Amino acid sequence: MISLEQAHALALECRGRAYCRYSGFAVGAAIKPYGEERLFGGCNVENASYGATICAERAAVFSMVSAMGRREIEYVVVATDADPLAVPCAACLQVLAEFSRPDTMVYIADSEAVRHEYRFEELLPYPFTLKQV
Ligand code: ZN
Repeated sequence: MISLEQAHALALECRGRAYCRYSGFAVGAAIKPYGEERLFGGCNVENASYGATICAERAAVFSMVSAMGRREIEYVVVATDADPLAVPCAACLQVLAEFSRPDTMVYIADSEAVRHEYRFEELLPYPFTLKQV
C-alpha cells in the first residue's frame, strides 16, 4: 500500500529533476489517484519563453491522465525548499480542480517532512467549472 512517505519521496525525487534555470525555484509534486496503488510525479519545467513554463503540479496531473485517463485525485504532495513553503499557484489549483474532490488533500512539504495539509476546497473553494458533455 502506498504511503504518504512514499509520495513525499517521489515529490522530492522529482524536485531534484526540476528544470528551473531561470528562477532557481525547484518544485516536485506527486499525485495519488483514488483507488490506485500508483503515484505520478512531476517537476517544474521552465522555458526561455516564460509563459511556456509548466509547474510541477500540472506536470504530475498530466502524467496521471496520460497514463490512466481521468482519475480522481486522493492527494497531492508538493515539495519545495522555499521559505515560506509554497502552495500550488492559481493555474495549478484550477487544473487540480478538474480531477479533485472537495476533500482531496494537498500536502505541502520541505525536504524533511510534510509541514502543512489542506483540503482542496480550502485552497480553491470556487473553481471554474463547465457542464461536461
Ligand atoms: Zn502552478
